[in-house]
Amino acid sequence: MTETEDVLRQRIADLEAQLAATPFIPALPTEHDGEPITWRDWEEAPIILCAWAGDLNACQACDHPGPSLLAFGLAGPGKPRIRFNAHRCPGCQEMRAYQRVYDKYRVGTELKEIAYSAPRTIARPESGR
Ligand SMILES: [Zn+2]
Repeated sequence: MTETEDVLRQRIADLEAQLAATPFIPALPTEHDGEPITWRDWEEAPIILCAWAGDLNACQACDHPGPSLLAFGLAGPGKPRIRFNAHRCPGCQEMRAYQRVYDKYRVGTELKEIAYSAPRTIARPESGR
């Protein structure tokens, strides 16, 4: 290894450490369709244990083992309810925010993506997952 290479490797290591020390956390949307959203703090998402579906906790973008982070957004009309939720990877900070769409004729909730923030690290090569 040449001296220049050593200097450059050290510089890259210093910059990586600097980046890791100041992670970029994407901002959550403050409103949707004119309705203001109040977000609760980010918390660790529950770990999903499902032998058939494979590992659902790892990040698809950077392979962080998880758990991912979860935040709930409250909005009206009327008494604020949980009408939004967001997921964020603690490794690459990829973030998706969803509106929870309730349909009285269907069981459960449909999630409609309203915001996306791309990963901050280089995506791992496709492994067919
Ligand atoms: Zn990630």
